[in-house]
Amino acid sequence: MIQPEKMRVYIGLGSNLNDPIAQIKTALAALDAIPETCSIRHSSLYRSAPLTLNATVMQPDYINAVAALDTRLEPMQLLAELQALEQHQGRTRSAQRWAARTLDLDLLLYADRQCKSEELTVPHPRLHERSFVLYPLFEIAPDLHVPGQGSVRVLAARCRIHDTLSCSLL
Ligand code: ATP
Ligand code: CA
Ligand code: CA
Repeated sequence: MIQPEKMRVYIGLGSNLNDPIAQIKTALAALDAIPETCSIRHSSLYRSAPLTLNATVMQPDYINAVAALDTRLEPMQLLAELQALEQHQGRTRSAQRWAARTLDLDLLLYADRQCKSEELTVPHPRLHERSFVLYPLFEIAPDLHVPGQGSVRVLAARCRIHDTLSCSLL
């Protein structure tokens, strides 16, 4: 069911395969074309070191960005659209967690809603500890509050101290 009121949502984008900068630019345009949805703004592109569970498996760096959208889709409908875009851009699912990918689209925040299931947890359960999410999010929404976690301003500042991951503006 489509809801009458528009909801502000934030999407985290990441790519480290097959021309990641082009993948992110294509995905930013595709987000604006999702039904009942329009793009409000997006961050600059950032480069970050890959998350890895096995340091012997080398992966290219990631290109990341965050987009703000307004949507009338329900959270699960929006997630289905994001997964269709991932597939359209050649995402293959691997048994290995955090494997290299052409496109990853995470639903970071859906207005001030909180929900927790295997299919969908919002706010994204690891957003508050990731510089490659918090830096671009701070760039486009510095006064945003993350339900259950606090302000993006404080979370991003804390990340600078604790996060050993490198994330820099391209
Ligand atoms: P991480 O979640 O740590 O960033 P990932 O993005 O590599 O890891 P995926 O393999 O892309 O993880 O997704 C695994 C599952 O996570 C998906 O099938 C999806 O149903 C579920 N999921 C739960 N919450 C979310 C969310 N907020 N955004 C996107 N997917 C989510
Ligand atoms: Ca992710
Ligand atoms: Ca994902």
